[in-house]
This record gives sequence, C-alpha cells and structure tokens, in this order.
Amino acid sequence: MPKVRSSNIGYPRIGEKREWKKSLENYWAKNISETELLDSLKDIRLSNIKKQKEAGIDLIPVGDFSLYDHVLDTAVSFGLVPDRFEYNGGEVDVDTYFAIARGTDSAVASEMTKWYNTNYHYIVPEITSAPTSLVHNRVLDLYKEAKTELDIDTKPVVLGPVSFVKLSKNQTDLSEQELIRSFIPLYAQLLQELEAADAAWVQIDEPFLNGQVTSSELDLLQEVYAQLDVAAPRLNILLQTYFEAVDDYEAIVNLPVQGIGLDFVHDAGESLKQVIKFGLPTGKILAAGIIDGRNIWRADLKEVKEIVDQLSVVVGEGQLILQPSCSLLHVPVTVKLEEELPEILKSGISFADEKLEELVALTNVANDTSDEQILEASAAAVKALNDSSSRNNEEVRALLAEVGESVPTRSIDAPERLRLQQEKYQLPLLPTTTIGSFPQTKEVRQQRLKWRKGELESAEYEQFIRDEIDKWIKIQEDLDIDVLVHGEFERTDMVEFFGEKLAGFQFTKFGWVQSYGSRCVKPPVIYGDVAFVEPMTVKETAYAQRQTKRPVKGMLTGPVTIFNWSFPRTDIPEGQVVNQIALALRKEVEELEKEGINLIQVDEPTIREGLPLKESKSQAYLTQSVDAFRLSTITVQPETQIHTHMCYSDFQAIIESIDALDADVISIETSRSHGELISAFEDFTYNKGIGLGVYDIHSPRVPAQEEIDRNISRALSVLDPKLFWINPDCGLKTRKEKETVEALQVMVDAAKQARKQL
Ligand code: GLN
Ligand code: ZN
Repeated sequence: MPKVRSSNIGYPRIGEKREWKKSLENYWAKNISETELLDSLKDIRLSNIKKQKEAGIDLIPVGDFSLYDHVLDTAVSFGLVPDRFEYNGGEVDVDTYFAIARGTDSAVASEMTKWYNTNYHYIVPEITSAPTSLVHNRVLDLYKEAKTELDIDTKPVVLGPVSFVKLSKNQTDLSEQELIRSFIPLYAQLLQELEAADAAWVQIDEPFLNGQVTSSELDLLQEVYAQLDVAAPRLNILLQTYFEAVDDYEAIVNLPVQGIGLDFVHDAGESLKQVIKFGLPTGKILAAGIIDGRNIWRADLKEVKEIVDQLSVVVGEGQLILQPSCSLLHVPVTVKLEEELPEILKSGISFADEKLEELVALTNVANDTSDEQILEASAAAVKALNDSSSRNNEEVRALLAEVGESVPTRSIDAPERLRLQQEKYQLPLLPTTTIGSFPQTKEVRQQRLKWRKGELESAEYEQFIRDEIDKWIKIQEDLDIDVLVHGEFERTDMVEFFGEKLAGFQFTKFGWVQSYGSRCVKPPVIYGDVAFVEPMTVKETAYAQRQTKRPVKGMLTGPVTIFNWSFPRTDIPEGQVVNQIALALRKEVEELEKEGINLIQVDEPTIREGLPLKESKSQAYLTQSVDAFRLSTITVQPETQIHTHMCYSDFQAIIESIDALDADVISIETSRSHGELISAFEDFTYNKGIGLGVYDIHSPRVPAQEEIDRNISRALSVLDPKLFWINPDCGLKTRKEKETVEALQVMVDAAKQARKQL
C-alpha cells in the first residue's frame, strides 16, 4: 500500500459545457424521453468517474452525482415524499422526483434553501413520519455501475443521518434525536448492502459538524456511528466534515469509525494544530482536505507540501489521504476551455480538474514517485500572479491606507439628515417607490444580447434603452409614484454589470457552478485590485432624471453583495477586497451626486446569507460588512439620501448591523413573513426610514388592496409613520409588464388611502 493516497469528496455534476443542464431542461420541455435523459446523464456520470481515474485519484466518489440535488436524493431513497405528490411506495420515479423539486400544477414544490454558507441550494425534505424502509439503495446501484461498466472500485458517498435530519423539516411528533435514531436501521441496511457488494469504503458526510455542536449531539453521533459500525464491520466508514475545522476535534476523531475527513484549508491551520496536539487514534485514517474546494485559485504546492510533511510525522504510514477541503461541486469543471483568459491568470486558476491534478502531484511527491521539482511550477504561477501589476495598483493601496482603521461616519446623524432631506424633497408621508428593476421583457433581453454579440450598434442599443426608460418614467408618473427609478434595463445581472466595468474583475467562458437544480451561475473572478474606471450608471440615471421633475433614485449593488457573489482573490484579507470594492463604488456614488442624483440606493441583499457558519466569526464579518457599506456611502452631502435594500432574511439576527449601516432608508421584505419582520424593527428603536415591502413580487398575481392595507396598518400600529415608505418587496425584473403596472396601482392606491387615515 502507498504511504499516501488521493481522494475526491465530490465532483461537479454539470459537465464541461453544462451538458447536464441541457439534458434536464430538454427533458422538462419534453424534447427528449426519460430513457434519453437517463442515458445522457449516465454518460456524464461515467465520464466524470473516468476523468478522475485518469487523473490518478485513488478514491473516486459515486453518489455525488445527482439528477437535481443530493439532499433530495437522500430523501427519496428513504421514500420521503410529501403527501401532495401522491406517492404509493417503492422506488420514487423520475417525474415524482422532479415534481418535489419543481412543483406541478397541482402541488407546490418543496422549499429550497442555502446549503450552509455556499451559493448551492438544496431541496428541504419534509418528514411527516419516521421512515420505515430503504426504498432504493441508490448509491449501491451507482457503485455497481462503476464496477461493471468501468471496472473501477469507487467510494460510495451518502449524506449522514444526523445532518440529513437537521437539514429537514421535522413534521413528526418525534424529537430530533428520536427521528435521527429512526434512520439508524435504514442506514445500517444501506451499509450492509454496500459491504456485501465488496465496497471497501463509504464516505458519510456530516457537514453539520462545521458549526457549534452540543455535547448531546456528540453523544448521539457516538451512538449512531457505533451502531453503523457494528452493522457493517468489514466496510470502512469515512466520516466526512467540511467548510470549517471542527470544534471538538478530540471527540470527533474518537468516534467509532475508521476514517475522519477534516478541512485543513479554512480556520487558519486549526485542524493541523489539533492533529499535532492531540494526534490521531491508532489505526485511524485521516482524510486531509488540503486543497481548497471553495475557491478557484491554484495552490502553492510547495506550501501545501509542508502541511503534508507535518501530517506525515503524526499520521502513520498508509493512514493519510489527501483530498479537497469539500466537494468540488462548488467550483467550475475545467480551466482548459478558458482560451480567452490572460495567460498569467489562466495559470493561476484551478477548477475541479486542476485541483485533482494538484492533489495527485502532492500525493506522488509524498510517495516519492515523483520529484519535488513538479511543485515548483505552482509556486511560480502563484508568485507571477501576485507580482502582476493587476495586484499591485499603487493608487488603490494609497486609498486603502488613507482609510486606515477608522470607522467611516457621515458628517451628521441620521435624524438630522432626514430632517434636511425632507425639507429638500418635500415628499408626502408614506412615500412610494420601487426597488429598482422593471420587467426585463424578451425584447429587452434580446436587444442586449444582440448588442453584446456586436449585432447591434451601440448608438441603436442606447436609444433602445432610452426608449424603455422614457416609457417607464411615464408609467411611474401616471401611477403617481413619488420616487422613480430608471428601471435597470441595461443590466444583465446585479453583480456582473458592475464587475464588467470595474478594474480587477475577469469573466470566464465556462466557469459555471450549480446554484439550484439546473440553474447555474458564473461568478465573476476578482483577480486584481478593484478600482473605479469610469462612471457605470450615471448615463442612464441622469437621463431618466432629465425626463421628470420627480426625484429619480440611483441604483448600485453594494460591496458585500458584489464580493459574496464573486470568486474573490485570497492572497489578501477578505476585508481588503471588500473595501476596495467599496471605495470604487464610492466614486460612483460621488459621480451620481455630482450629476444631481440625490437619492442613491446601494443594494445589499446578501449580507445575511454571507454570515459565517461559526458564531465566533460572525461579529468580525458583520463589522467588516457594515464598514464596507459605510465606506461606499459616507462622503455624500447630508441632504443626499442613501437607501439600501435587503431581500427576505432573518433580520432579527442582524438588526444591530442593519442599524449600523446608517442608511437613511432601508427597504425590506415584509409581505411573505406577514409582518413578522417588522417586529425586529419594533423591538429596536430604529430611527431611520424603512421601506415596507407591501406585496410579494415573486408571484405573478396582482395583490388585493386589502392585503396591502393590512400590511401597512400592521406596521403603522407600531412604527412612526414619518419613517415609512411603501414599496414592493424586491425588484420587478422577473414580472410581466401588465401585472407590474396593475400591482403598483393597487400599492399607490393603498398608500394614498393610508395617508388619509393618518
Ligand atoms: N435593485 C435590484 C433590482 O431591483 C435589487 C435586486 C435584489 O434585491 N436582489 O432588481
Ligand atoms: Zn430584493
């Protein structure tokens, strides 16, 4: 047996050119049959395995591939199908599976939510009673498939029972502990069948271990895994954690399993410290996540080799496995296709395939089957990128240094600013506005695409955008909205639009990652110092303002959101990257102000979702986020009104940070939570403007005025009417024109009526 082996935790499903997405969507559109769908997915699945084999990976995962989502896969393998999908037992068929994920005309889909702190979303299982059987040992089939079709002995991967239950909605009468226990016999059967098929290893993911773990949870883990270990004594269990170092190293490595997978990338060397301090129980395998599975940067393998060397001293011969820090689901497939990237960047990037190459190189060096020399190239590539002019912009450095450690603050406090602003704009009580975007019709999207492809002259395209602005300024005036917006017709996406105009960003061609279902996103790459180049939104906003006497609100995406939805560089601290973006946006804010745009909205819909998994890191993240937001907005005149917007989230948890943003007006969602969110503001003396999302834009229906009235009176019963704004709960770009105008009319009518009653 070699001293060290290489392994992978999970491989991207989507294929090099999103073949997976295309197959799924073709099936949903009824262009291909179920057999054609399953055949094409099988091709992708097998070719993924083959690729990993050819790369030289020793332990290749199966079961990570999915038709939609791995949490849903786990649920259906236990026959956990919500009643509304009329399931009659047995293996869940493909259409029922997709129905749970996507809904049908008669049954709403299961909810979907974020997978820990990633941008991947999983389908939330609804468990109404304890599971009674393993209806489909999916992973067993996949294990056998790889063996018969490719003659490869793979490593089955399943989501562990504790994390699975914690990720689900427990709608049973059982406590969480009891529900988890009810899964033990089914997992035991699953493992026994794998053992009988001669699988050597099974990877059981327990990602909940990346957060706070209580002692009773540790006891439960002990109990669960002791039983699973007894059930399949010949099968080796690798208990896999990821996204953070675990808090209870000693307890976790002593669980009754044969191997432990830990993240050695995050938490600044914490896992390494723990291993060195406490060692590893004899005979236990350590699967060390030493290549970052979350970012897209090539590692300096000489540095990583030092970690491997330190581990080799503590971990016995044959007991060390090298792998990525988490599933490679979160990175694109291959850099190979990125022909247009500048060479220095291309050689500094590493997607899934390249990460596997890095692992194999390290493994070979550790086993003395190749020379240390092969690690040199990576160190050189990383250095070249770090030394490049794009990462050494003196002006950006100077600007950052000037800001230093001081807390950015506006010259006058909020209540006084609001008074000055009111004096200047003379808005009615309960002013009405929208969140920024208006419907991106097919025509808008087509014109933009044509222009981007060079099929439409810039002058013609710009005229088209101006016509859309004209049309919507007129609509907003006719509706009698108080603060208008230009409509964001020129924007593809709220982050890409800015990334394309700022220095330091780069766009890949095939750098897609799965967000949910077949939906993939292509995050921009922040590779260099971020800097303002030229005005980004001034032309359209100022044009809109010239068409009306009413104030037009400028519209920017905030620094935290741009950061959270990109692949940021990691050679400098996160806070510096966010602040660079903030300073570039500040320039834009100033340019808008110069052009007479005196209400400026800086959207930060992702502040809440970017919260770290561990509470101990939350405060630092929130302070950093608040400072960045303030950095981008504080240099304006007191009369300039800064707005911000956040979509649905648990505001209660971060209310102090929302307050600290010191925005003059915040617009938030309230309609879907039936006013619950307002209580966050009511228990806290919030003395700035609040825009109420009085109706849900996520559905095409036009709200009845009574619904909006109810939302307004609920809020006015507890909050100062002078602080209130009335608006939809998010941007309207996904809506149709007709329903948008109708819904806004109802909203304005409701506002007018509410004013009369004040
Ligand atoms: N201004 C953006 C829009 O209206 C805000 C989008 C968002 O909150 N996600 O589309
Ligand atoms: Zn929103």
